[in-house]
Amino acid sequence: MRIVIKVGTSTLAHETGNINIRRVEALCKVISDLKNAGNEIILVSSGAIGMGLGKLCIPEKPQDIPTKQAAAAVGQCELMYTYDKLFSEYNHTVAQILLVGLDIQNKIRNQNFCNTLFRLLELGVLPIVNENDTVSTDEIEIGDNDTLSAIVATNVKADLLILLSDIDGLYTTDPHKNPQAQLIHTVERITPKITSLAGGIGSKLGTGGMSTKIKAAQKANRCGIDMIIANGKNPDILYDIVDGKQVGTRFIAKKEV
Ligand code: GLU
Repeated sequence: MRIVIKVGTSTLAHETGNINIRRVEALCKVISDLKNAGNEIILVSSGAIGMGLGKLCIPEKPQDIPTKQAAAAVGQCELMYTYDKLFSEYNHTVAQILLVGLDIQNKIRNQNFCNTLFRLLELGVLPIVNENDTVSTDEIEIGDNDTLSAIVATNVKADLLILLSDIDGLYTTDPHKNPQAQLIHTVERITPKITSLAGGIGSKLGTGGMSTKIKAAQKANRCGIDMIIANGKNPDILYDIVDGKQVGTRFIAKKEV
């Protein structure tokens, strides 16, 4: 299987912004193993801004662009250093791909990054994609990594898109406020009712929330790709997903007949 896995900042970092070592180690181990089993994986990783803020001891997410960009510049290094170190332990080579909106909108640039991605996959490398936050401003930004991961998945014609988050999936109401909230296991069609369940914003350090995830599902489903939202707190969950077990919320794409 060719799988795009997106991990959010809330999965990778503690609330302090510092890296969650245990979690990231487990994640790299499972992804390495899935690759060893013959799957092609592309990781879309957030965490640059969050980790940069942690390293710079800035406690809250800043609103001004230069500070965000500076934090991303610091954090992206930290992120790739960590991935490189951990994946090397399992003999996997990583590659960094940073994109901005222009790389998607412009046909030639889009083709270029796809060519690179395909070549990396042929070479057995694990591409790790993030938005190029250090140069991304409003006009050219993709905005969030849920969207970015759906763009990557559709471009590489992935078999599956997995979004690892700090929530088990899509609920009937907000589970933080309502104990009766029930997890929706499968979404066959993204109706306005489903969209309305998305609610508000995400975590303290991340960017997306449920609404960007549902939009990502729409994008992926339209191209025939299923998308799963699952809780990344235990990365072993990826084994269950690949084994076809019912985990999180699966948005099912209409298959061509
Ligand atoms: N690109 C951002 C980062 O690496 C995160 C965007 C997102 O969380 O959606 O910090």
